[in-house]
Amino acid sequence: MTGSPFPRLLEPLDLGWVRLRNRALMGSMHTGLEDREADYPRLAAYFAERARGGAGLIVTGGISPNVVGWLGPFSGKLSSRRELPRHRLVTEAVHAEGGHICMQILHAGRYAHHPLSVAPSAVKAPITRFRPRALSARGVERQIDAFVRAATLAREAGYDGVEVMGSEGYLINQFLVTRTNRREDEWGGAYANRMRFPIEIVRRTRAALGPDFIVIYRLSMLDLVDGGSTWPEVVELAKGIEAAGATLINTGIGWHEARIPTIATMVPRAAFAWVTEKLAPEVRVPLIATNRINDPAVAEAVLAKGGAAMVSMARPFLADADFVNKAAAGRADEINVCIACNQACLDQIFERETASCLVNPRAAREQELVYRRAAQRRRIAVVGAGPAGLAAATVLAERGHAVTLFERAGAIGGQFNMAKRVPGKEEFHATLAYFARRLDVLGVDLRLETEATPEVLAGSYEEVVLATGVSPRRPPIPGLEHPKVVSYVDVLLKDAPVGRTVAIIGAGGIGFDVAEFLTAPPGTPASLDAAVFAREWGIDRDFRNAGGLLPTPPAHGAGAREVWLLQRKETKLGEGLGKTTGWVHRLDLKKRGVRMVAGASYERIDDAGLHVTFAGRPSVIPADTVIICAGQEPLRALAAPLATLNVPTHLIGGADVAAELDAKRAIRQGAELAARL
Ligand code: NAP
Ligand code: SF4
Repeated sequence: MTGSPFPRLLEPLDLGWVRLRNRALMGSMHTGLEDREADYPRLAAYFAERARGGAGLIVTGGISPNVVGWLGPFSGKLSSRRELPRHRLVTEAVHAEGGHICMQILHAGRYAHHPLSVAPSAVKAPITRFRPRALSARGVERQIDAFVRAATLAREAGYDGVEVMGSEGYLINQFLVTRTNRREDEWGGAYANRMRFPIEIVRRTRAALGPDFIVIYRLSMLDLVDGGSTWPEVVELAKGIEAAGATLINTGIGWHEARIPTIATMVPRAAFAWVTEKLAPEVRVPLIATNRINDPAVAEAVLAKGGAAMVSMARPFLADADFVNKAAAGRADEINVCIACNQACLDQIFERETASCLVNPRAAREQELVYRRAAQRRRIAVVGAGPAGLAAATVLAERGHAVTLFERAGAIGGQFNMAKRVPGKEEFHATLAYFARRLDVLGVDLRLETEATPEVLAGSYEEVVLATGVSPRRPPIPGLEHPKVVSYVDVLLKDAPVGRTVAIIGAGGIGFDVAEFLTAPPGTPASLDAAVFAREWGIDRDFRNAGGLLPTPPAHGAGAREVWLLQRKETKLGEGLGKTTGWVHRLDLKKRGVRMVAGASYERIDDAGLHVTFAGRPSVIPADTVIICAGQEPLRALAAPLATLNVPTHLIGGADVAAELDAKRAIRQGAELAARL
């Protein structure tokens, strides 16, 4: 597209019998809606919105080809004609919007969370409870047949193609490497035997479906586990898959059991594009680059390097269904950027809830959370420009209300202004930039450094939304007035001086953030530089070693400070953090030498430090600085006077309930209230 800053991203891709309208692939992302027939109308609405938003090609979440390949009991499956009508809802909805859609066929193998699981060998995965049954040679043939049948049914259901899920440590990946394939028959042993399984799947799928059906193969280019594929094996497989008839090869990075973050927010943008680029000269089939590509400029840069013909973005399409249309219309600065937090998408899936999105609570709830034009334009004041207030103000304005947003500080953002300063959380800048732009576009009357008094509010507004947030809790520990005691706000927002030995009281999300902040090595944060990130996490970008792992242990932080992170609970620290990211934070801090203490009882703080009892033994942490990260209390002083003045008032975010407040709840509550007013 000439004149656009993203000509490569917006360029159509001609596959011969079908022309994709651009190079943006909405990658596969399980939402949970695939698992119940009753949820398919919601799934169809969700995909239709993304097709309307311009996605070049959509891939569904993983659909199993048979019962043994289920991810969990009764998860999404396509193995019988009875299951076709629900899939037709999806394909028809996407086609009605001019989009194209492939169904991902995912066989979990030993990653299944049910007792029927099968694998090349009976080797249990470290991340599941069930030991798989080793497939017989006939069993292997049956799994291949199941893939081909699922693809055949997918075409009957109206899909434009399938994606064969060959990465992330699922069944196909399990065949490829000896760590999981101990077979001695024609499906094990030499690499030519181990790679026969995926090649036969692609070859027989192509043979059954003919030339005019998209077959994407998701190839694990970088396993990131011991005993993973070597580079020559990756190349040999890619060539074999190309010869077997794949239309496109997508990139897979890291098995789920890998102990290296691959998609979380501390992973630099496009940090793994190098591996797709490295494969490009080896094959002619178009490649798709993936992982942490979340903005059109990054996508364009990846495509410009020439290694990939498409870029896959999964979560960015949850965050903003209109990603492509906005990029095409010169409105890229209005894109709601995925911050890779995983909090509302993957973490919710692990909690067996439907996925949504922290920055876009409408994701996967398109029919439920609708921002309808208001019947009557009303004057509404929103007090507090933190995440809850920003969400409320922008949705209210989008619906046509006249919104005034009061903020006492000199900038919007509230708690996000602290988060964005934590190394590895730079993406929060993008959310703030999005909201700032949105307020501007929607004409919200933003009043910074302005105290909203009851008198001002009562006189001029028909409704008031109180999003006044929280204040840090001051726990009743003797010595709290000592000059060495500071709060996380002092450290993260006001650059309060912090000594060499530090005790952090409270190990919630903020205690962890403060520990990360204080122990970050000097220089460019790993989250902003793919080479630094690879060094810190032991990734071999020259791919001399199997799995792409460096042979020496990764070098982490500099350890200039001695940091203690404490909580009263006896449970493991960081248990309340997200399932998919908590382990990264724990591992990172451990490698930086942070001492984590559970079951602490705080006695007092004095010149000697923090007096604390743990495991029944009193001791003193000789802290120069004690940082309080003990949660928050709601700030809602305006609520009572407004009630006296009979002003209709609504409390949201931390001002409503401070306990366990996070940005996900704040934004969702703000948006939900604003959709109703
Ligand atoms: P939090 O998660 O509620 O943690 C508060 C910590 O303070 C807990 O470790 C708690 O542990 C301790 N505590 C509570 N009352 C105390 C008392 N009276 N005396 C001493 N210690 C006390 O709150 P937060 O860390 O301030 O985080 C606020 C919200 O932001 C949370 O919902 C959090 O999930 C979210 N957040 C999330 C992330 C993320 O990466 N996902 C990052 C930052 C913030 P004990 O009671 O065991 O001592
Ligand atoms: Fe991205 Fe977080 Fe939304 Fe998931 S919840 S799509 S990671 S912003």
